[in-house]
Amino acid sequence: PNIPLFTQIFRHAETQPKQKPAIIDVKAGTSHSYCHLVSDIIELRKRLLKNAGTSIKDLKEEKVAFLCPNGYDYVVSQWSVWSAGGIAVPLCITHPPSELLYVLKDSQSSIIITHSDFQEKINDIAHEAGIKKVIVVSDKDQKYSQYDGTNFNVGFVFDPPTLIPTDISRRAMIIYTSGTTGKPKGVVTTHASITAQVKSLVDAWRWNDKDKILHVLPLHHLHGIVNALTCGLYAGATVEMMPKFDAAAVWNRWMKPDNDLSLFMAVPTIYSKLIKHYKENIPKEIQPLATQSCSQFRLMVSGSSSLPTPIRNSWKEISGGVVLLERYGMSEIGMALSHEYEIEKRYEGCVGVPLPGVQVRLISEDGKDVTNLVEQPGELNVKGPNVFKEYLNRPEATKKEFTEDGWFKTGDVAMITAKEKVFKILGRKSVDIIKSGSYKLSALEIEKELLSHPDIQEISIVGIEDQEWGQKVGAIVVLKNQESKLDLKQLREFGKDKLAHYKLPTLLKVINELPKNSMGKANKKELVKLFVD
Ligand code: ATP
Ligand code: MG
Repeated sequence: PNIPLFTQIFRHAETQPKQKPAIIDVKAGTSHSYCHLVSDIIELRKRLLKNAGTSIKDLKEEKVAFLCPNGYDYVVSQWSVWSAGGIAVPLCITHPPSELLYVLKDSQSSIIITHSDFQEKINDIAHEAGIKKVIVVSDKDQKYSQYDGTNFNVGFVFDPPTLIPTDISRRAMIIYTSGTTGKPKGVVTTHASITAQVKSLVDAWRWNDKDKILHVLPLHHLHGIVNALTCGLYAGATVEMMPKFDAAAVWNRWMKPDNDLSLFMAVPTIYSKLIKHYKENIPKEIQPLATQSCSQFRLMVSGSSSLPTPIRNSWKEISGGVVLLERYGMSEIGMALSHEYEIEKRYEGCVGVPLPGVQVRLISEDGKDVTNLVEQPGELNVKGPNVFKEYLNRPEATKKEFTEDGWFKTGDVAMITAKEKVFKILGRKSVDIIKSGSYKLSALEIEKELLSHPDIQEISIVGIEDQEWGQKVGAIVVLKNQESKLDLKQLREFGKDKLAHYKLPTLLKVINELPKNSMGKANKKELVKLFVD
């Protein structure tokens, strides 16, 4: 019970069929069994330790950053850092040098593992970032180890307890938050917290070794690392990794005759792009095949931001009845709330119930616990083994976000619905709860309703400071068609049957594109500036 979760793959190397892939690397065109993966992890682990110094057997929480494309090298890097006793600091391949430098410096990483494609990029900043060693892995030396895929002796090579540190209270990873509301913060998680996060999802979403997930998410955030990759490898499943999300490539993959995928996870923007591609680029006569390919999946998950109702509905339509499972979580706590597995309990506009092992409560603005009431907004507080240890180098911030009795204050506001008695996210306290007159409005609710306007592609609702009202409701809209026109009067007219009059926007800006970060989220503090003339 005290063995860290990542060692599970050593067990899979012994028990899973030799021909079964753990990782399929789509870009490299390679497939790797659990045995192969484990051999390569051990090989890279040796290199890591050797580079750290002579006779070093344990990195003892030294921070090791890695910059690899989404594929096999990424997985080998992350697990080799863990098995050498280091703290894994995943970097993002699309980040510009300035952002990489920020993360490297902030995390105080001393070693970096990189793919040969990024060697130059890293060499340019390594010195400035205080990196002592750069370890290069590449496609060309894909075979880290001598293991050739045959002849694997069960129980002979790997003995996890002696090979790797077993203390699960050790720090395991530093993940940077998405930076939606400010500079990304380094979230430090232990092996114990990752273990709890993964076990809870494996249990709730029924992960098993027959599963095969198509992985298209960035690998420097929880959604991609924990929910999709680590859960998959913990369960002994197959993770097929695409280098990045591409709507055409995803549909083509799904429509292949040998589609044996069972899981897919994405952010709402990705589902929206898949729908657009289906409608605009897949010929009418092929569309039934595309629809049919979705029936293959036992589970499709949406998260990282609120799932707009039109996306949920369109997805159900084009997929032939797949109801997306929505969940809520954050870097600091892993996943906290999720729709239940049963399709009829995936209620629209809600995020379901607390995941196994996660304690959740709602605290109103005047400090009352409103978890057992309905339609009473409160800040979500979370407690449990899934919760992170600390913000790196930010003791004050860490202290501020916890209550005295150990609850983590998420900064997100939610309520229990009257009908289904499940959680509904109203938005971030800092930007999504708009205080207008005597009302407190949820930007997410307004967005959800107005997004059903036939001409609106995307909408973001923000509170604009106002002398008279405190805040006014501002709408920033991207239209589906550049030629169509939308003015404030039309928008209010459209919304008046759906929303109370005080929720209707009184300010409107139409723009060509909503600026978003790599997780598909818009920074509302920046968007507000559009209204400052
Ligand atoms: P930063 O903390 O740097 O501002 P961030 O909060 O976006 O960025 P993450 O930890 O990646 O960074 O994202 C967690 C946040 O995403 C949650 O606090 C919540 O606001 C939002 N979120 C996640 N899932 C959902 C969901 N299903 N519905 C609504 N919001 C969600
Ligand atoms: Mg956050």
